[in-house]
Amino acid sequence: MKKIALHWQILIGIIGGILVGFLCIQFAGGKEFVIDWIKPFGTIFINLLKLIAIPLIIVSLIKGVSDLKDTTQLSGLGLRTLGLYLLTTIIAVTLGLGLVNLVQPGGFLSNETREEMLRSFGGVVDEKVEEVTAIEEMRGPLQPLVDIVPDNIFESASANSNMLQIIFFSIIVGIAMILLPFNQVEAFKRIMDSGNAIVLKIVDIIMFFSPFGVFALMAALVAEAPSLDVFKALGAYSLTVVAGLLIMVYGVYSLFIYFFSHMSPVQFFKGIFPAQLLGFSTSSSAATLPVTMECTEKNLKVRKDVLSFVLPIGATVNMDGTCLYQAVAAIFIVQVMGYDLSTAEQLSVIVTATLASIGAAAVPGAGLLMLVIVLESIGVSPAGIALIFAVDRPLDMLRTSVNITGDAMVAVLMDKYGKE
Ligand code: ASP
Repeated sequence: MKKIALHWQILIGIIGGILVGFLCIQFAGGKEFVIDWIKPFGTIFINLLKLIAIPLIIVSLIKGVSDLKDTTQLSGLGLRTLGLYLLTTIIAVTLGLGLVNLVQPGGFLSNETREEMLRSFGGVVDEKVEEVTAIEEMRGPLQPLVDIVPDNIFESASANSNMLQIIFFSIIVGIAMILLPFNQVEAFKRIMDSGNAIVLKIVDIIMFFSPFGVFALMAALVAEAPSLDVFKALGAYSLTVVAGLLIMVYGVYSLFIYFFSHMSPVQFFKGIFPAQLLGFSTSSSAATLPVTMECTEKNLKVRKDVLSFVLPIGATVNMDGTCLYQAVAAIFIVQVMGYDLSTAEQLSVIVTATLASIGAAAVPGAGLLMLVIVLESIGVSPAGIALIFAVDRPLDMLRTSVNITGDAMVAVLMDKYGKE
């Protein structure tokens, strides 16, 4: 096992899982076998990744911030990072909007299919939509800001594992450490250093099992997948999303890397590949974070203090793939429903998809739920997400890969420009 590079191991796990999943569903009881005996190992793997994500964010962020020279350096790095995150998000959403208007995938769906889908998925989706709209209705305009500040850090880390709150707390601890004289923080710094080493070793141990984990995840995914007809009906829509994601990664990110970093795009994509595969298999930026950090440090050689600041924040707020997808999905639903959107409404999609992607949790399916907000902003019934529900998982896998690639790209750029 040791001699094969990690990305090959994961790739073998992905392909093996797909094959075994397909094989099992050919037999009676095969689906149940996969769900009962294979899927739990996938769940264990995701649990392990999530388990280590929070300690990793806390120790590496405290260490990263406290290693900075002063608070000016921190605000410089912070502002540039957030600015770049916002810029790439706006590029992504504009790209999605342009593509969906160009391709018009809504025109490819027959009336029958549309009605049939609304009937068969309506029930499942309605419950979720109700949940999200109920939560949204209770929120004032400044609520997202209030949500960042926890009143109990243990609750943030346990009950709701709220990443932004944990990030906020860790940054404050780091700032306090910068402001205090060295002799008062020296001991705690040492603890953080060795905590960091321990957490990274645990990531290594978890990654040793990653081929088996992704194998189980993929087998379960294939066994539980809807029929191929659904994919055919939604082919034009799915392809538009996929095309947008590919352009974003291999076009936009390549240009950024080529013009603004010291490495070649090929080098960049090779280095981040294991994390992309893991993002693809887990559909969760949060679960992938430990590996994104490892790849960025070991393969892309980004400085530790930069990446431990940039990546945890990116995993939580920077979702280029998600907002591109939300723009395509919203307009696709509008097209299927037969509405026409004004330029002002299209602009409102840009703004709300940007905010919805920032607000989306880094877990599977979060982008789909946040789509409700985008649809409401243009006066479309949130029940419209029933139309795209069936193909969401594969698209989620791809957009998650894009999300983490975007974070790594910004980390590489910040390594060069973040602290000057
Ligand atoms: N699964 C995505 C992520 O974790 C979020 C989404 O659903 O778009 O990055």
